[in-house]
Amino acid sequence: MAVIIGDTCINCAACIDECPVEAIVDEDDNPTGEEYYYVYPDKCVECVDHFDSPACAEACPTEGCITWDMPFTAEHKDFFAGDNYIDGQPYGIENPDAEMPMREDISLEDRAARKPVVED
Ligand code: SF4
Ligand code: SF4
Repeated sequence: MAVIIGDTCINCAACIDECPVEAIVDEDDNPTGEEYYYVYPDKCVECVDHFDSPACAEACPTEGCITWDMPFTAEHKDFFAGDNYIDGQPYGIENPDAEMPMREDISLEDRAARKPVVED
């Protein structure tokens, strides 16, 4: 995916208009059924070629709410087919064939550990 919104999201809407590729949906459109905002992994570009860092996380007022996730690349798509979603639910994905850009400087270990994008 790129980045993922966790269940500490307060549905404040600060992130949604910051996304340059409209990868974020609100709680009413969250395809996983959770009642908070959601980032489509097959749409998120990690803000590569748009900003120096993920704009959604910079705008989010909830500490640690938006974390890194695995990249939506050919090598890592298996991750998105299992139970790796925060609450054990599968990801909502509209385009399984998508190949998304990733920030190479973010390690797979930090992604798997869901390290917060913005840290104090
Ligand atoms: S990291 Fe950038 S592209 Fe991805 S959801 Fe956040 S604002 Fe959108
Ligand atoms: S800015 Fe953060 S708390 Fe607000 S809706 Fe987005 S993810 Fe949720």
